[in-house]
Amino acid sequence: MVKIPRSHPRYWSLYYRERIIEGMERGMTAKAGLIAHGRGEAFDYLIGERTIEPAERAMRAVVAKFLLAKHPVISVNGNVAALVPKETVELAKALNAKLEVNLFYRTEERVRAIAEELGKHDPDVEILGINPTKRIPGLEHERGKVDEKGIWRADVVLVPLEDGDRTEALVGMGKFVVTVDLNPLSRSARMADITIVDNIVRAYPRMIELAGELRNLQREELERIVEEYDNGKTLSDVLTYIRDRLTELAREGIWRRKEL
Ligand code: ATP
Ligand code: MG
Repeated sequence: MVKIPRSHPRYWSLYYRERIIEGMERGMTAKAGLIAHGRGEAFDYLIGERTIEPAERAMRAVVAKFLLAKHPVISVNGNVAALVPKETVELAKALNAKLEVNLFYRTEERVRAIAEELGKHDPDVEILGINPTKRIPGLEHERGKVDEKGIWRADVVLVPLEDGDRTEALVGMGKFVVTVDLNPLSRSARMADITIVDNIVRAYPRMIELAGELRNLQREELERIVEEYDNGKTLSDVLTYIRDRLTELAREGIWRRKEL
């Protein structure tokens, strides 16, 4: 990995870029994943590269929903494995969820590389999706493969950084679908039951914390959190947040401003 000077004003952004490049070089991340990452970065600028209130609200609802679920599954793709492998394994543990490698551009080598990376953080972790035998209806062969013990029978699925078409197909199967997506306008963001508009590198650590906090609540309290949650309102609030933030920046002037 290229060494980035800690003093660089955009250190973290460059650091995660290098992680994505390294993920590609190690056979986990697809080339198109690099482009998807860049699109995410652009939206991260708009929200100020921090966790905003609507995302915090969405994360609470997701954690509550997962704690209530019968067969919760967290899907892992090449970008996720490059950016947050350790956190993915920890989150699955904290939420008692299964992990499934599920790829838009599926190749056996890529699946193996991702499973290996996750295994580094917990040698005992069970990884599904290695030999998927089921298919998501409405998606062509390679894109639709899922594990019978994982996404196929799941009631609640977290599909971060996912394509809109696949998100929609999972919703069509009757799953409760959750996504992490920095773009509030993407099809995934609009199709999911809960959308966390945040960078996954901030969202996963926060969700691990929330799992610890909400674990002790009664079922009824968890159910109330989920019932009171409104994803349409969350997405509207994200857009309003971005609008207000940009309006304020435009008013104050951003010319040669050091911090945004
Ligand atoms: P859609 O198909 O849902 O309309 P898309 O075609 O723009 O979206 P995809 O490549 O299918 O994009 O999905 C990747 C999504 O993940 C993008 O919306 C992108 O903004 C988002 N994304 C990329 N990197 C991150 C990240 N680190 N954290 C959160 N979201 C991210
Ligand atoms: Mg897409």
